[in-house]
Amino acid sequence: MIANRPTASIFYNLHSIHTENLLSSLFLALPLVTYDQDINIPLYHPKNPLASNTTFKLFSSTFRRPLLTPLRSSLTLSVAVTSAFQQKPGPTTAVHKNPFSSAAPSRPFSSSHAPNFSSASKMSPSVPHTKVAIIGSGPAAHTAAIYLSRAELQPVLYEGMLANGTAAGGQLTTTTDVENYPGFPKGIGGPELMEQMRAQSERFGTQIITETIARVDLKSKPFRLWREYEDGESDAPAHTADALIIATGANARRLGLPGEEKYWQNGISACAVCDGAVPIFRKKPLVVIGGGDSAAEEAMFLTKYGSKVIVLVRKDKLRASKTMAKRLLANPKVEVKFNTVAVEVQGEDKPRGLMTHLKIKNVNTNEEEILDANGLFYAVGHDPATGLFKTQIDCDEDGYILTKPGTSYTSVPGAFAAGDVQDKRYRQAVTSAGSGCIAALEAEKYLAELEDEETRLEKDKEVKKAEINGENLPEYRSNPLL
Ligand code: FAD
Ligand code: NDP
Repeated sequence: MIANRPTASIFYNLHSIHTENLLSSLFLALPLVTYDQDINIPLYHPKNPLASNTTFKLFSSTFRRPLLTPLRSSLTLSVAVTSAFQQKPGPTTAVHKNPFSSAAPSRPFSSSHAPNFSSASKMSPSVPHTKVAIIGSGPAAHTAAIYLSRAELQPVLYEGMLANGTAAGGQLTTTTDVENYPGFPKGIGGPELMEQMRAQSERFGTQIITETIARVDLKSKPFRLWREYEDGESDAPAHTADALIIATGANARRLGLPGEEKYWQNGISACAVCDGAVPIFRKKPLVVIGGGDSAAEEAMFLTKYGSKVIVLVRKDKLRASKTMAKRLLANPKVEVKFNTVAVEVQGEDKPRGLMTHLKIKNVNTNEEEILDANGLFYAVGHDPATGLFKTQIDCDEDGYILTKPGTSYTSVPGAFAAGDVQDKRYRQAVTSAGSGCIAALEAEKYLAELEDEETRLEKDKEVKKAEINGENLPEYRSNPLL
């Protein structure tokens, strides 16, 4: 039997699925799509021996790629396919109702921040309303959820369904050991860390919905959110919310070089800080691609481990800041090759073989060269997941949401941004979690002010009514101590 909605834990164990593999493996998956999802098989649970036996662990950020165990890959994909099918609402799919929300579905908004009553107040009463919605499922989203649910604001968190090709739980679900998140002296598996954050969010009453938000309206108050497959002009929103926390993260850019797929995480990484200390890089020649601050920083970081670090810069100059560039060029273990691009990653032929060489080309002379290289680190930028918001919220030239420095305030009052979606510099789990906390506290304050404003308006109305009726009411003060 296929259940109407897959259980969260099954969704949560989708982190090893490569979306690009999904369709090609449809055939494998089809015979299994009728699994009863109530069985709740922990396919990729870090503690699942099947998972750990068949997962190739090399990098701390290794994608948890299964060796081709037919049962497991079929089973996993079957769940993915089932889930993907189920995400399209069929005739029996009900609109999500927020069981926690006691607020009226479309209460009128009153705030000093340019309210627009046209939307939610006219909405069908079946549209669930929440005081605060969170979009995202990484450390930023869950930290915000923990704070908001502990503050009894009953947040609704849309964790996504393979949103931007990443499973619910975010970037850390593509990682094995996380060794720099405080509180885990022996390290913790990325998926396990995210599972624990999720459990903590739920413990205090966060309603987690495994759907991707495909459209938002930040001009209306309350904000309106539509989920994937129900985001047409005539579709009712999945939720309305007085405040919104955007924590949709970012993805590291890849170059699509020949050999990249084969040696990805078998020598190639997009996070030197995460993977640089892995033994395969010790005292080996390493290459960094990029000319920005990240490339400079990562190259210098890698000099601690590699025998030598070569930086490939496609132009004749570095984009990095003067200080960083100076430091990079002065480092005796670093060689910067300008006007140079990577052409092909080469390496061992065997399954799971490691990269050993990199073919490069001088773009001025077209001369090619083959470098010894046991590691290749991309530092060519990230793409923040801001497609949804770009036209409604101020973003920088790279698409990152602009926040007021030191806060989570965006250009839209009531919308707060946290995590990698607004941080192009640090991009760490702990900094994301920290900014999730800030966003929650600021959203809480915003909601309190909103409520205060509503009470004030309500009292004003009462006073006016009383005046008309010739009654005497005590003066209203928002702060009783005044
Ligand atoms: P993300 O983790 O990016 O999660 C956001 C998630 O929100 C998305 O993945 C998706 O599931 C969901 N989402 C997106 N759009 C929507 C939508 N429209 N609707 C619903 N849901 C949506 N950091 C460390 O500190 N230590 C490490 O060891 C480390 N290792 C790493 C290894 C790898 C391979 C990678 C890629 C990153 C690593 N990082 C590490 C960085 C760390 O993972 C990120 O900084 C952190 O996860 C960012 O958190 P976030 O909350 O901003 O969002
Ligand atoms: P950037 O966008 O600044 O730099 C990306 C680099 O990658 C550029 O040199 C770019 O080349 C190169 N690049 C892009 N695409 C390709 C490609 N296809 N092939 C080869 N090279 C390519 O990203 P960063 O991640 O470096 O920095 C992001 C932001 O974070 C910046 O504002 C930066 O200042 C900040 N930051 C600051 C740090 C610090 O101060 N310590 C540390 C890290 C980041 P080109 O220049 O030719 O476009």
